[in-house]
Amino acid sequence: MPLAGGFLKDKSDFQKEKVFPLTLAFCRNCYLLQTREVISKEILFNDYFYHSSAIKTLVKHFADMAAEVAKEISPTNNKFIVEIGCNDGSFIKSCLNKGFRAVGIDPATNVVNLLLRMGFRL
Ligand SMILES: [Zn+2]
Repeated sequence: MPLAGGFLKDKSDFQKEKVFPLTLAFCRNCYLLQTREVISKEILFNDYFYHSSAIKTLVKHFADMAAEVAKEISPTNNKFIVEIGCNDGSFIKSCLNKGFRAVGIDPATNVVNLLLRMGFRL
């Protein structure tokens, strides 16, 4: 199985595309379904192609969600939001705009480096 998001353009791209085994494992006790194989983080995340801020409807969704959270939980200094898989920080930025402290975690090195260049801190 090739990795998602290859967006190949011509036949030579297809020949070079890497494929990986994809074995599903199902637990009859708790109904967990997961893949058996673990693709290394270097292959998956060193040059990650997806940036959530490129999808304007998603950016709006995150802004709306931050507004909803702010209605339910007043932003104060002793509370903060943690987003695991924050990508390029679209949701984190919306949380900051609402006055929350926020922390994002993401394994995509190139995406996180973009945030660092924008002034976000490690
Ligand atoms: Zn189980």
